[in-house]
Amino acid sequence: MKKIVEVAHKFIAEHQDLDIAVDFTCGNGYDTKFLSECCHQVYAFDIQEGAIAKAKTIAQRSNIEWILDDHANVDQHVGAFDVGVFNLGYLPGGDESITTNADSVITALDKALQIAHKPALIIIVLYPGFEHGKKEAKAIEAYVEKLDSKHYDVSILKLLNRKDAPYIISIDVKGEDEAVPFTI
Ligand code: SAM
Repeated sequence: MKKIVEVAHKFIAEHQDLDIAVDFTCGNGYDTKFLSECCHQVYAFDIQEGAIAKAKTIAQRSNIEWILDDHANVDQHVGAFDVGVFNLGYLPGGDESITTNADSVITALDKALQIAHKPALIIIVLYPGFEHGKKEAKAIEAYVEKLDSKHYDVSILKLLNRKDAPYIISIDVKGEDEAVPFTI
């Protein structure tokens, strides 16, 4: 299988009209780098100074605004956006006790859905392979499955034959003129 983040990037690359992106968890900066290459402006959040310092060495474009803050405060830094990425868990190679948590992700999602352009795309990469990640994934699924299907299409891309593999939730925020349920 391809790395899950490559799949996430493919989803994003297929999306049209990408102008403003938010990387809600910049970590080592690989998602930020990708977003900076396909969008005009990127806002990159992390709560760890060390993560942002490392990310700046990976993603070096001038269209990135680095934000050392909790993504739950997204509305204090970003006015609107077209694509958002949450790559959850802890910083690879960093302190594993500093990890994302469902409460701030859900607060960030709540605010993100209010400021997102219509249409917009939000991709969440979840890691249920460790105890905290499993609980976080459950809580986030419970939140997204209640989103109104008139305004959002929420889908999951998951390997059913590999227990606890990382997976993707995508939230398609529909355009103003598309407020109808998704049909097959
Ligand atoms: N996107 C990254 C990359 O391309 O390397 C990987 C992200 S890493 C799995 C998760 C990151 O989320 C960590 O660097 C961690 O510090 C950050 N994080 C945890 N809680 C956060 C929060 N409330 N707000 C913003 N960032 C947070």
